[in-house]
Amino acid sequence: MQQYAILTYHQIDLAPPPPAQFRSLYVAPSAFARQMACLKALGYRGVSMRELLPYLRGDRVGKVVGLTFDDGYCNNLERALPVLQKCGFTATCYVMSHLLGKTNVWDIENGVTQAALMSAAQIRQWAQAGMEIGAHTQTHCKLPLMADADAMREISDCKAELGALLGEPVEHFCYPYGLYEARHAAMAQAAGYQSATTTQRGKVVVGTDFFQLRRIPVVRSTFMPQFLLKLLTGYENGKGA
Ligand SMILES: [Zn+2]
Repeated sequence: MQQYAILTYHQIDLAPPPPAQFRSLYVAPSAFARQMACLKALGYRGVSMRELLPYLRGDRVGKVVGLTFDDGYCNNLERALPVLQKCGFTATCYVMSHLLGKTNVWDIENGVTQAALMSAAQIRQWAQAGMEIGAHTQTHCKLPLMADADAMREISDCKAELGALLGEPVEHFCYPYGLYEARHAAMAQAAGYQSATTTQRGKVVVGTDFFQLRRIPVVRSTFMPQFLLKLLTGYENGKGA
């Protein structure tokens, strides 16, 4: 049974000192560079969701790993992009259409240090470098807590707004906080996306539901032996959310 890993990253930067919260969501630039070099040395190619999809459908077979970045931090452009380009990899960055050029304001209540999000010009720069922009709602909302009409607007209008900014269709979606119910998967499909990623952990089995894709988190404390376990074994399968 063919399986593929989709890695989840957030910020590629040095973590702020304690007591900052969610420091795990930072991966140091040097660690990220080592992880990408490791993929390359093992014969893997890191790919965007657009490039991964034929493999998930079973139309192609190969050594590829999906690379995703949630939220669209400027440090993805500044620190991750040069590494990706050096390795010949592509990646998908999921952004919120109403928070371009702002900060991770949805995290303020949790004591998370504020970091800059890419502007409209910067997401164009990311896309023009051969990378992909995906959608992460308009405002980083909690979909299950919203009325269905509002949830649909967050999912669907984000696609339209980002597509207009980029001049190309935005076809891949990611549920903020990993929060969704079956009706939101149906909404993402109805809005015209090709896939939606979650925070459920594990590798993706070919032919699986493209609107509930599992991923593998890479965090500050993911050292190389664990990175290899996550990548090469079933270590992540069944780990839950
Ligand atoms: Zn997010």
